[in-house]
Amino acid sequence: MALEITHLGSGSRGNATLLQTEEAKVLVDCGFSGRQMERRLEQINVDPKSIDAIILSHHHSDHAQGADIFRRRHETKLFANFTTCAHLGYDPVNQCRIFDALERVQVAPGISMLPVPVPHDGADNVGFIINSGSNERAAIVTDLGEPTDELMHHLKGCAHISIESNYDVKKLAFGPYPPSLKSRISGRGGHLSNQQTADMLAEILGPETKSVVLCHLSEKNNAPHLAESETLFRVENWEGDLRVSTQDVPEFSHWVGQSEAELISQ
Ligand SMILES: [Zn+2]
Ligand SMILES: [Zn+2]
Repeated sequence: MALEITHLGSGSRGNATLLQTEEAKVLVDCGFSGRQMERRLEQINVDPKSIDAIILSHHHSDHAQGADIFRRRHETKLFANFTTCAHLGYDPVNQCRIFDALERVQVAPGISMLPVPVPHDGADNVGFIINSGSNERAAIVTDLGEPTDELMHHLKGCAHISIESNYDVKKLAFGPYPPSLKSRISGRGGHLSNQQTADMLAEILGPETKSVVLCHLSEKNNAPHLAESETLFRVENWEGDLRVSTQDVPEFSHWVGQSEAELISQ
């Protein structure tokens, strides 16, 4: 079934992505306050009560802070792995459905996901490969220090890929962060630089991938034009749609398998 993907906002102040088919609506991460989540959904005419499920990549507040309040207010099912559930203090029986890495999770009618583990500081973080019953898969993956062979394998051939492009190497090196934070961000447990993301995409992208969204850009250590130009510079002969998701508002949606985005009027 056709799947539509809309980033409600992405960055270190919050992340949430809406997946919609005719049958179901799912949020990947819920990293804004409950009120802010409702506001962003209202902006695209989605009733919060119509969300079937929330699935969390990991426990960091920019991915999980609104999850419990949203779940309680709107009676939404909540999925997380055991470590994420434990970090957030959720009751794994009554508050949260537990999933295991690399085992398919049926999140809502017609939408299943494969959680793929990725390295990230003190968190059991996963990227998601999404299947909505058609041959075309989508991927959402943020917060990883470096690519793994396993992740690369699953990303290849996806019709849509949302992937973090967190920092510009020069901006981070000469920017305001203390040395310890700089090395944490750029280390194996941190985030992907524009260059790392562009190198990954250069290896992965082929004609099957119709759209790519660069997300989780650092506001201090990156800029949309830097992330975009790094990818365009390294990726050759690819004709899909490349966009950057920013922090504050939902700006566009992609139908998985189509190489044009639909813009959202503000
Ligand atoms: Zn994180
Ligand atoms: Zn994050």
